[in-house]
Amino acid sequence: MSSSSMDIDVLVVGGGMAGCMAAMAAKTDENRVLIVEPSNVLGGQGTAGGVAGFCADSMRVNDIFADLINRLDAHGLIEPYNPLHDRRPYDLEWCAFFLQEMVVERGIEVLLHSRVLDAQANAGWVTSVTVATAGEVLEFNPRVVIDASGLCIVPMKVGFPVAHDGANAQLPMSLYFTLWDSHNPVKPVLPPGCPTWSNDDEIPMTTLHHFPSGKVEVKMKVVGFDAADGMSLSQAEIFARRQMMGLIYYLQTHGYRGRKLDTYVLASVSRRIGEIPVKKPKRRNPYDATNRSGSIIRQYHSNPIHGRGPGGQLRPPRHSDGTGAGDLLSMAAILAV
Ligand SMILES: Cc1cc2nc3c(=O)[nH]c(=O)nc-3n(C[C@H](O)[C@H](O)[C@H](O)COP(=O)(O)OP(=O)(O)OC[C@H]3O[C@@H](n4cnc5c(N)ncnc54)[C@H](O)[C@@H]3O)c2cc1C
Repeated sequence: MSSSSMDIDVLVVGGGMAGCMAAMAAKTDENRVLIVEPSNVLGGQGTAGGVAGFCADSMRVNDIFADLINRLDAHGLIEPYNPLHDRRPYDLEWCAFFLQEMVVERGIEVLLHSRVLDAQANAGWVTSVTVATAGEVLEFNPRVVIDASGLCIVPMKVGFPVAHDGANAQLPMSLYFTLWDSHNPVKPVLPPGCPTWSNDDEIPMTTLHHFPSGKVEVKMKVVGFDAADGMSLSQAEIFARRQMMGLIYYLQTHGYRGRKLDTYVLASVSRRIGEIPVKKPKRRNPYDATNRSGSIIRQYHSNPIHGRGPGGQLRPPRHSDGTGAGDLLSMAAILAV
């Protein structure tokens, strides 16, 4: 593969839910659409990130999303639809598989283990995007770039105006992990340096979802860090692992909301990544996720969608607008919380 053999029309940066949906919406019989994704799987937060539940009304998104839901639903891999529930849990691995199949079936090309390194613009128009793949660095000159990285990597690299509100102006980050019922008593361990709490109300906002299989999915807030700052994000990772070990100890010894998990063991830990920040949280309580309700949603930086200019170059159509189509799923999720 060389850059000259990759004559792409639409380059989608990031293979999360938003990137996959955008790629499928953009694909026609005539064009070539390529998704660039750093990890080894599609779905981003919605699969690799461990976010195993769709917020918002999962019946009212669009036809492509309905296809994904139907594939999961056909095999009992997603909870039944209930418009009164704020979240619809699903199986992560099957979701990743069906999403992959949907993308590949449509003839969309995928570069996994690859990431956008750089981008160039000329007079406000994106002209090229540099991608590191396994073995080589490629340069693309697509007609359209859709940045669904959640990081606005392309606008940042080309120097478009961006906003970065910093820690505590964003939603708190979260760590997902899963526990499994071993059906045997476990010996709780509280490693030095890990926190502990004396009652449920003291711990950072935590939600548990009990699956019939014996799996428990735990979502735990990691508060006070800046997801758009590399050092702060790294500190958050270290802090989160300690907090997780403390929380597991708490669940095994004390229990949460009346249920002790003294036969449960740690099964897997997701990547912990921040959520899309809101511009004006309604409440200050950093543990309170309901501060998202009705708030204005904003990217870390600026609009990730680039239109096409008169000369065929690319540009963001609305510099001042903080959301883009690549975040439609995120928007739907957060607006409905
Ligand atoms: C902890 C947490 C809990 C959440 N809980 C829920 C929930 O319960 N229900 C719900 O509906 N929503 C929830 N959300 C929100 C939901 O998960 C996200 O809104 C949604 O998954 C975002 O999808 P996305 O495709 O926009 O971004 P992502 O899933 O973040 O995808 C972005 C992709 O871009 C890739 N990328 C990054 N940098 C580059 C680069 N340089 N080049 C190329 N690709 C790059 C990443 O690898 C990733 O795959 C939660 C989010 C988090 C973080």
